[in-house]
Amino acid sequence: MQPKFKIMSNRTFTMIKPDATTKGYTGAILDQIIKAGFKVKAMKWIQLSEEQAGLFYDVHRARPFFQELVDFMISGPIVAAILEKENAVADFRELIGATNPAQAAEGTIRKLYAASIGENAVHGSDSDENATIEGDFFFTKLERF
Ligand code: ATP
Ligand code: MG
Repeated sequence: MQPKFKIMSNRTFTMIKPDATTKGYTGAILDQIIKAGFKVKAMKWIQLSEEQAGLFYDVHRARPFFQELVDFMISGPIVAAILEKENAVADFRELIGATNPAQAAEGTIRKLYAASIGENAVHGSDSDENATIEGDFFFTKLERF
């Protein structure tokens, strides 16, 4: 039997990617996220290993850009965070804009800070299920509230 209502999670997971951290955009991006109403529930500044980046993007392993994506994601530090807001996953995808910054709406984070489809400044979970999986990938229970 189908549930009557889809239970919406109020959390999403994000990374500020190496292009944005190395260009000095971290503060401006976090400011925009917080001003949009998201509360930070966990956060860390780390550099991923090749194995960790590959595991995180495992669903893209067969895609032609997989190695390019992994090499980029380990090229500098990232900021990983769990964010809370009503309708978090969809609202955050709207805030960051389309994967390709050339197609991202005016004022979105990718429009403002991303250089290309590969180096696109931020990650945002694409579903409630993946938000939970991705948050669990980076944070223990002790590291979130
Ligand atoms: P993310 O998962 O990082 O939030 P997304 O959900 O908008 O991005 P996906 O389709 O999940 O897009 O792709 C994951 C990431 O892989 C993209 O953010 C981008 O960095 C990279 N990527 C996607 N398509 C391409 C491509 N054609 N060429 C190079 N890199 C790509
Ligand atoms: Mg994605």
